[in-house]
Amino acid sequence: MTVREYGLWINGGWLKTARTIERTSPAHGAPLARFAEGGEGEVGAAVAAARAAFDNRSIWSGIPGSERAKAITRWLELIVRDTDRLATIEAEEVGKPIRFAKGETEWAIELGRYAAALAYQIPGDLVNNIGDANLGLVSREPRGVIGMITPWNFPLVTLFQKLPFALAAGCTVVIKPSELTAGTTLEVAALAREAGIPDGVINVVTGSGRTVGEALTGHPGVDMISFTGSTVVGKRIAQRCAEQMKRVGLELGGKAANIVFADADIDSAIDGIAFGYILNQGEECVQGTRLLIEESIADDFIRQLVERSRKIRIGLPDDEQADVGALIHEQHMEKVLGYIRTGVEQGAKLEIGGERLTDNGLGKGYFVAPTIFSGVTPEMTIFREEIFGPVLAVTTFKTAEEAIRFANDTNYGLGNGVWTKDIDKAIQVSRELKSGTVYVNTFLETSVQMPFGGFKESGLGRENGMDGLLEFTEVKSTFIKL
Ligand code: NAD
Repeated sequence: MTVREYGLWINGGWLKTARTIERTSPAHGAPLARFAEGGEGEVGAAVAAARAAFDNRSIWSGIPGSERAKAITRWLELIVRDTDRLATIEAEEVGKPIRFAKGETEWAIELGRYAAALAYQIPGDLVNNIGDANLGLVSREPRGVIGMITPWNFPLVTLFQKLPFALAAGCTVVIKPSELTAGTTLEVAALAREAGIPDGVINVVTGSGRTVGEALTGHPGVDMISFTGSTVVGKRIAQRCAEQMKRVGLELGGKAANIVFADADIDSAIDGIAFGYILNQGEECVQGTRLLIEESIADDFIRQLVERSRKIRIGLPDDEQADVGALIHEQHMEKVLGYIRTGVEQGAKLEIGGERLTDNGLGKGYFVAPTIFSGVTPEMTIFREEIFGPVLAVTTFKTAEEAIRFANDTNYGLGNGVWTKDIDKAIQVSRELKSGTVYVNTFLETSVQMPFGGFKESGLGRENGMDGLLEFTEVKSTFIKL
């Protein structure tokens, strides 16, 4: 297997660094990639390139939205051409099954297509009732240079919830992807040049959060930080950005609950809950990590869910049939196994799973069996903390009020699910749930048109939809004396 070598991508070219970061496969331990390790100086060079590209209005920020849309579309055509290659890189670096990596690459393209279309219709207003001698224009201007910091779980999708929207708005960007999974970000940045997107519009500096991330959030030439990652790092970024009144967009952690009422369609609820807790090995911000089940159907439902979980196929990234892959690294696997031990110690009942998997060629990777706990109470750690692994905590409830109280009993507020055939009840419960997304009789749906983001400590601002584009604009009111 050849090891992919990458430099930093600055001003339309590769830049080597003295130090590098090695990425080995979380699924079988083989070396995969060597990323350049940037520092403050390289962040400075990348921001300077992005600033120069932004300030030269004739190449990107000041050209018609339709021209930016065409350039983004040409770029997406190259990503379509290279889908298999990009998906393979993503599957290998994250450790996820290839069919999911393919689907996610296609989803990133879909986000890009939608954002390109929005470039034609960035809204503005003419205000003509402020007196005969005045005319008002409300316009939206691109925010400027955007620093984007992304996580390792969905490298392309988390990037594409930001990048094409910022480009459509007329911004230029410096991206700091996760140091574990930077391959696809660097690849698409290079494809942008092939598509004719001007040099300096997209720059990528790889390296650690402590050096590159901090340099980016502290750089006065960056107008906004758009971040996806943990709530702990999100808070740190918000504090640093406040010093310079930098704009921030924060997509952070979650602890979603699925509330299943006795009158739900049980088969589809089982499907949704099983999919919701194992997708991406549970390394998913809207993972359905808590199941709140009405007491009268709990025993039977858990039995069926355990049966379904036995059929989940765990495999290497190139296993076309696999449902679940490897966790991102050994330390993270140990953390997930630690949460499982804590669940047992605090008195939850382990229904299935709970262990590392090493048979059938998985011995060199970080695989954890799909795990279900019943008898979980709101005081328990596995009910409260984001585990980020294939672990489901099941709690029973007696009334809708109790279910709502349990669901909202968390600092997070990204997503929740409600399962019932009674549409009135579904709507009433949805209204009470404190989360940016609510799924009714389905789970983990996504649409490019629907805004996505968190209440409470799950974030600030929205991605996707027109809201996602407007995040990358500033509003200007112009009064014209007639
Ligand atoms: P993380 O917060 O550890 O890292 C995210 C990124 O921030 C990485 O690129 C990292 O290098 C960088 N970083 C770390 N410290 C930094 C600092 N001090 N300054 C600037 N940048 C810094 O998160 P992770 O482990 O990569 O990803 C998992 C987390 O991401 C989970 O909490 C998950 O819920 C969240 N997530 C949220 C969404 C969403 O849309 N809400 C989507 C995916 C993942």
